[in-house]
Amino acid sequence: MTASLSVDDISARIEQVRQTLPPSVRLIAVTKKVSAEAARAAYMAGVRDFGESRIQEAIAKQTELADLTDITWHFIGHLQTNKADQALTHFDWIHSIDSLKLARRLNHLAADLPRPPQCCLQVKIVSDPPKYGFSVPELWRALPALDQCAALSIMGLMTIPPYGLAVAELQTIFQQTRELADNINQHGLSHIQIQQLSMGMSADYPFAIAAGATMIRLGSVLFGERPI
Ligand SMILES: *Cc1c(COP(=O)(O)O)cnc(C)c1O
Repeated sequence: MTASLSVDDISARIEQVRQTLPPSVRLIAVTKKVSAEAARAAYMAGVRDFGESRIQEAIAKQTELADLTDITWHFIGHLQTNKADQALTHFDWIHSIDSLKLARRLNHLAADLPRPPQCCLQVKIVSDPPKYGFSVPELWRALPALDQCAALSIMGLMTIPPYGLAVAELQTIFQQTRELADNINQHGLSHIQIQQLSMGMSADYPFAIAAGATMIRLGSVLFGERPI
């Protein structure tokens, strides 16, 4: 972990980004590979939503930040089914349900929880073999079974565009994600109601917001470039 930016740098960057955000957009600070000190700086600058993509790293950071009791933790990475229970204990949101198998596992475990975890379905609008997520046809096929996962509160779509697209292609992907959400909502499912669009990262978030993103996940624009 490198402490690349100072506390003042981080709060200045957060302020700068926040000035551009409509009030309807929730800023999630992605703290993967970022130190607990830097995450604390973001908290001091007013951020209350934090995103992590690895369970082990997240738990270590949460322990260091245990005194900050009003953080909402978002899991945004690929979740192995054998870590589903840890994700449910340590996170308020799971953005990355990328298979029916994972949804069923989470649903089974969540039946005992007082509060259903809030979840997004990760979707790939265009083919992107290295990434996890449902293709659009896969998502439609899985929807009836996903709708049976009544212990989960499935209320969003999450997407990560392929790397290196032109602006027009990014815009199309974000718009198609919003249209997919509208189509799902008109489908008459009993539990699933898509109210959140988790899309937009440091390089593309203005386009995601223009297309209707409600949650943006920002890392490097707030904390500096991550070590590889
Ligand atoms: C790392 C990561 C981000 C943040 O990426 P930046 O480009 O640093 O803003 C957002 N979403 C997911 C799923 C990530 O893994």
